[in-house]
Amino acid sequence: MTKRVLITGAAGFLGSHLCDYFIAKGYRVVGMDNLITGDLKNLEHLFPLENFEFYNHDVSNYVHVAGSLDYILHFASPASPIDYLKIPIQTLKVGSLGTHNLLGLAKEKKARFLIASTSEVYGDPTVHPQTEDYWGNVNPVGPRSVYDEAKRFQEAITMAYHTFHGLETRIVRIFNTYGPRMRLNDGRVLPAFIGQALRGDDLTIFGDGSQTRSFCYVSDLVEGIYRLLLSDYVEPVNIGNPDEITISDFADEIVKLTGSSQKVIYHPLPQDDPKQRQPDISKARQLLNWEPRISRKEGLKITYEYFKKFTAKQLEETKLNKEF
Ligand code: UDP
Repeated sequence: MTKRVLITGAAGFLGSHLCDYFIAKGYRVVGMDNLITGDLKNLEHLFPLENFEFYNHDVSNYVHVAGSLDYILHFASPASPIDYLKIPIQTLKVGSLGTHNLLGLAKEKKARFLIASTSEVYGDPTVHPQTEDYWGNVNPVGPRSVYDEAKRFQEAITMAYHTFHGLETRIVRIFNTYGPRMRLNDGRVLPAFIGQALRGDDLTIFGDGSQTRSFCYVSDLVEGIYRLLLSDYVEPVNIGNPDEITISDFADEIVKLTGSSQKVIYHPLPQDDPKQRQPDISKARQLLNWEPRISRKEGLKITYEYFKKFTAKQLEETKLNKEF
């Protein structure tokens, strides 16, 4: 019997790549999204397929899906700092109420449940690189808390369903990921820099650019998530690329890649912006036999090729500070 998987946040960046992956593996895929930050364009190539269904629904409200489900992957959530600052309550609701509803559905369907957690559970980390047993350094009332605490609650309730109801659960902690289908105006550093380079605008570095991130190409992430789903490991697992870089050096790489002659300008660092971030992926290596394969050079090239196709009008429409 072909297995059937529900993917929430299906029209988003990660959700749509997951839909593609599961369809390619021969699964039946049910996509769900309320299209607040997602875009149906990311899924339009799947609509003609018999194995793909889509429901426009906000999972913070009761979720009903007819028929059997083998897996539920909960990826619905605003995921970039400027998004969750614009819609903080929805962000908290989809992580808390949405997760509760989907856990209930998983219990009803006897489906295995995987949640998209995040490196943000480590907050502004005092341990480097971040291992899964680090409990984090999160400001519970700061601007990022609506995302970070929702994700921490999501982990807690998922574990509770596992221990109390015996539900099969998996928790992936996702580090910065990039690739085609990111929104140019989602505010994250890669689309921000590439968009600025393509429009001929200066690149905006927040703070002095000494903060670090470690960027993982989307296909590597999706492969890691799939392996975790099929594993029997219940504790959280980091999936990310440990190749760490400062934001200043990252800006230089984008300038070189795009051949842009723009300069870099400095803006204030947002409150509670993590100073350093790098996943320790020992667990993923050992348990899942997984590690990233796509170098930043290769991944950035593919991503740039994707954004280069945008028309001048699309670039203008996706200028930052325009409403999504
Ligand atoms: N950043 C930046 N310029 C921008 C957008 C982001 O310097 O135009 C910085 C941001 O302050 C952070 C890093 O880049 O230190 C990564 O930001 P992003 O929003 O991509 O992800 P997150 O902070 O959630 O890791």
